[in-house]
Amino acid sequence: MVQQRLAILGAGPIGLETALYALGKGYEVQVYERDMPGAHVARWGHVRLFSPWEMNRSPWGERAVREAGHELADAEAFPTGREYLDRYLLPLARLERLRGRIHEGSKVVGVSRRHALKGHYIGDEKRAEGPFVLLLDEADGERYVEADIVIDTTGVYDQPGHLGPGGLPALGERAADRLIERHIPDVLGTDRAQYEGKTTLLVGNGYSAVTSAHLLAKLHADAPETHVHWLLLDDAPPYAPMADDPLPERLALATFGNDAARGQVDGIAPVFGQLQRLELSNDGLVADVDLVDGTRTLELDRVIGNVGYKPDASLYRELQIHQCYASEGPMKLAAYLLSQSGGGGDCLAQTSGGFETLVSPEPDFYILGAKSYGRNSDFLLKLGFEQIEELFAGLQ
Ligand SMILES: Cc1cc2nc3c(=O)[nH]c(=O)nc-3n(C[C@H](O)[C@H](O)[C@H](O)COP(=O)(O)OP(=O)(O)OC[C@H]3O[C@@H](n4cnc5c(N)ncnc54)[C@H](O)[C@@H]3O)c2cc1C
Repeated sequence: MVQQRLAILGAGPIGLETALYALGKGYEVQVYERDMPGAHVARWGHVRLFSPWEMNRSPWGERAVREAGHELADAEAFPTGREYLDRYLLPLARLERLRGRIHEGSKVVGVSRRHALKGHYIGDEKRAEGPFVLLLDEADGERYVEADIVIDTTGVYDQPGHLGPGGLPALGERAADRLIERHIPDVLGTDRAQYEGKTTLLVGNGYSAVTSAHLLAKLHADAPETHVHWLLLDDAPPYAPMADDPLPERLALATFGNDAARGQVDGIAPVFGQLQRLELSNDGLVADVDLVDGTRTLELDRVIGNVGYKPDASLYRELQIHQCYASEGPMKLAAYLLSQSGGGGDCLAQTSGGFETLVSPEPDFYILGAKSYGRNSDFLLKLGFEQIEELFAGLQ
């Protein structure tokens, strides 16, 4: 039997785990990674995961890394991103079985069908008769490669959202970009000088935002002239702490977040409204925030925007991918997620939806990992491992 060529886009946690699993199933696997394995995790290396080690390693990955002679960290401990990378993802990427299969510095620009344009063979099995073509940007130029099956695990981390009304850029936001951090900064480490003794506007009400708020509150305790305005849409408690939360880190953050939103945390002043305008001034920024009863002007040194991420759909623009109009995730999975929790609820209680939820009109093209959730931020690594098992069970 001819071995099927399987291309994996991105060597993050889910791309690496998929590669290892697919090799075990007999596929000819190639992984194309724009940067280095685990590149996105490396960028939030200073953040502690709220899921313990046992939820962050797949059974097959754990086995392979142990067999390669690495000692596994305590299953119940909570690693930082850096520890997760060093103690697990990099050993995984360096497994003998994956040698020569991970192409670092290989950016996937787009994927198409060699024999068909986007509008050809709608609902027709002829669509699957020719291979996929991938356009790659690499240090020594661009090239095409072919594959029979493509799995997109490129994540969402590099497409952060904008800060203005309804997700548009605030007026002046694009011009002020150099003073805006769009991820969780390492406030107590390498980025300290940018925040210590400064005034920062923090925008967002998810777990990234509360993590930034928590780090900034610690910096304030150490350097009291550090100030934060935390911009939230309204004065409802932004988090729903569960008293019996099995993840203590998450419970602590949710409780802290609600206290801070009530103005009960030193150094953090909540503001309720929408960012309207950012303007560069001589020594920083001026922000106009629309409140319920008027406008408030804030003088700032920096802005942290932690307002979520969007998937990059340009990679599969030439393919027939059915996307959800709300989350921009693949439609069947998005509908399943909505039916499971109504868009809310505890992400820990979720299960992946089975092979059918991973299928799109484009045959043999699948989106797994954080990107499969689109703008929905509930993705967990353990759900990605379930997706992998279900996908390959369905492909058999
Ligand atoms: C701060 C933070 C904390 C988190 N904490 C947890 C937690 O505690 N527990 C949990 O289960 N989940 C957590 N998550 C959610 C999720 O598990 C992670 O985002 C995880 O990294 C997702 O893995 P992934 O492989 O899907 O994508 P990513 O880790 O984003 O990897 C994508 C890879 O694709 C590469 N890539 C991107 N574009 C291209 C391209 N065009 N061509 C080639 N390569 C490309 C990137 O360089 C990257 O290596 C957290 C996320 C964040 C941001």
